[in-house]
Amino acid sequence: MIRTRFAPSPTGYLHVGGLRTALYSYLFAKNQGGKFLLRIEDTDRERFVADGTQNIINSLQWAGIVPDEGVVNFKLDKLVQKGDKGPYIQSERLDIYKKFADELVEAGNAYHCFCTPERLQELRDTQQKNKQPTGYDQHCLKTMPIDEAKKRARDGEKNVIRLKMPKTGETVFNDLIRGPVTFQNKLVDDQVLLKSDGYPTYHLAVVVDDHLMEITHVIRGEEWISSTPKHLQLYKYFGWKPPEFAHLPLLLNADKSKLSKRQGDVAVHEYMQKGYLKEALINFVAFLGWNPGTEQELFTLDELVKEFSLEKVNKTGAVFNIDKLNWFNKEYIKKLSDAELAGRSINYFRGALSLEQLKKIVPLERERVTTLSELPAALAFAVRLPEYEKEFLIWKKGSIEEVRKILPELHKFLSGIAEKKWNKSDLEKLVGEWVIKNSYSNGSVLWPMRVALSGQQNSPGPFEIAEVLGKDESMARITTALQKV
Ligand code: GLU
Repeated sequence: MIRTRFAPSPTGYLHVGGLRTALYSYLFAKNQGGKFLLRIEDTDRERFVADGTQNIINSLQWAGIVPDEGVVNFKLDKLVQKGDKGPYIQSERLDIYKKFADELVEAGNAYHCFCTPERLQELRDTQQKNKQPTGYDQHCLKTMPIDEAKKRARDGEKNVIRLKMPKTGETVFNDLIRGPVTFQNKLVDDQVLLKSDGYPTYHLAVVVDDHLMEITHVIRGEEWISSTPKHLQLYKYFGWKPPEFAHLPLLLNADKSKLSKRQGDVAVHEYMQKGYLKEALINFVAFLGWNPGTEQELFTLDELVKEFSLEKVNKTGAVFNIDKLNWFNKEYIKKLSDAELAGRSINYFRGALSLEQLKKIVPLERERVTTLSELPAALAFAVRLPEYEKEFLIWKKGSIEEVRKILPELHKFLSGIAEKKWNKSDLEKLVGEWVIKNSYSNGSVLWPMRVALSGQQNSPGPFEIAEVLGKDESMARITTALQKV
């Protein structure tokens, strides 16, 4: 059984890069008929953000990436966990990590280190000055007999436990995206595994948990690739079979620098608030480093599950192009039914319009907006007639005199139209016939009618607006125009 996991640290909110890691892990598991887990790696207490976990879960839920196991929900202020390999929150597993750290020390594969922060800083400074690679010099391992170290630790002296990394040879692994990757062991630091506060570091916790939770494939960002030799050494010491590893390409700005907030590395919930559709964001994020090898660009989540494979993930960095995201969003807005579009937009209107009203008006602007949050401004005229200059009412080939003549006649004609014919198609037909009968040009009638109804020079057509406003409001607006001219 294939088992993948997304293992975010709640040191902040879920960003696009995290969403991509979660998505690829999810797609890979689902494509293979496997399971996708969510594990919360909250061992970095200094960088812990209180509502980080909640934000991560909400964002994944919104995007439709639902874990089969692990931390599956956030309800009534509580994290909901599911599965028989939990707990799935690392801060609830401290005794497990302690046990495995002790086991490593007993076997001579890890050691207590009592060095002070000052000594470590001095060491780093000297190494930097001498242009040497920085890293721990195994001072405590070399100078302290093992029994003394154990006794001092037992007596409660402040210490950390470090991995004893072999200093010769190399560690090689076959990355599913990059192929064989080799590290010189002498360049790999004796990583701290257990901190003096009793919390494990990421490196110990991730290995123990991936093993105990029977993870078969670790899919994560490229920034973790240099940690992999440490992890593999731990698997070796524990005598465990390591999972397969796949390291995803970096996300880049258009100028190829590492993705920055300014350029679009924005939290997922901010995209959500701006009115990007989950379908668009998922589709866009899927293409950040993967493509199906065909011309097809629009994929639902289910289609992505069918198509996804790690072989088609690129090795080189993926450029984040906001224009492409906007394109996807417009495409998906076009695909929504009027009712769906209204439902997804309603919060942006803050109660100014009902769902029924929205169903009628949002279609008027759906082709013009990029995100749903633009709709209230684009449709403001439907809520209230904006202030406008009387000159707006004059068609480009017309004159104010013409408006003064035609608009009252039009008002009279429209007043006579029955309520039940007050809809786009009937109005279009009746007004069209009236224009012909009077030998007016279309522009000389439809332009002032449209501006009278919308108060804007650019807007949807007069008949659509008239239907949405209803007869009373439409007539009132035309009266306002008459008063102006
Ligand atoms: N907790 C790590 C992170 O925040 C997980 C890295 C991994 O997937 O191994 O990205």
